[in-house]
Amino acid sequence: MKPREHQGHVARKRFGQNFLVSDGVIRKIVDAINPRNGDTVVEIGPGLGALTGPLLERIDHLHVVEIDRDLIARLKDRYPPERLTVHEGDALEFDFATLKGEGKFKIVGNLPYNISSPLLFHLVASAPLVYDMHFMLQKEVVDRMVAAPGSSHFGRLSVMLQYHYFMERLFIVPPGAFNPPPKVDSAIVRMIPKKVGPGDTAKDEALFAKLVATAFSQRRKMLRNTLRSMVSEAQLTALDIKPTARAEDLSVEDYVRIANSLSDSPNA
Ligand code: SAM
Repeated sequence: MKPREHQGHVARKRFGQNFLVSDGVIRKIVDAINPRNGDTVVEIGPGLGALTGPLLERIDHLHVVEIDRDLIARLKDRYPPERLTVHEGDALEFDFATLKGEGKFKIVGNLPYNISSPLLFHLVASAPLVYDMHFMLQKEVVDRMVAAPGSSHFGRLSVMLQYHYFMERLFIVPPGAFNPPPKVDSAIVRMIPKKVGPGDTAKDEALFAKLVATAFSQRRKMLRNTLRSMVSEAQLTALDIKPTARAEDLSVEDYVRIANSLSDSPNA
């Protein structure tokens, strides 16, 4: 077998195609997803169906979003439309809210690594409708998503996603579980949207996002310097935040508190 060929399909690098081949890993992922009949389940990037088939052994119907026309044709040949609804196109432009049915709404996928961060940000818009999400991503990205304040992995991605979701790294998947094998380890992450109340919510989410991006733009510098254009040292102290702290020292709640004080203040 040629190195980048799998089941007669030549893997396309530009679509981040690394196909799962380990039955043990596939079973573990589907067990973690635990789909039930009646759930509205959507898989991003079904590819050659490594997860699609086992998911359809447990539920009567599945939605998939796939960009590669060759793979779309194969999926349509293999599964009748009453079992598999194939949405053709770019998951980054897909409105997941249009799929909401009666049951729990679950999103899953072995994601194309080249678009993982923009896709995670795109999915935030559907978070209020979603019951849970399970994704395979580069382990390094998952570590950044779930990192706690004070850790060197804690960054903009951690804050922005932890604001919307409870997240848990479930298990690591080695390169040998794929064909072609990626260069790095992967990991499965579970994401459950938070039901946020008024106290935990940023009143102005654009301002919150700008504050977090500004704080982490120079993560080694003290906040009194990085945030100078947005918030004064006195304001930080009044909010019980040390002006000498660095971006990675603050919790998600600290960022929400600063953002809300800025949106409350007349100068903001
Ligand atoms: N689920 C399969 C598996 O586990 O073997 C394939 C996973 S492969 C890492 C990523 C899949 O996402 C490929 O099928 C690829 O064609 C598809 N894909 C890449 N970019 C996409 C996009 N922007 N929108 C939808 N699907 C995409």
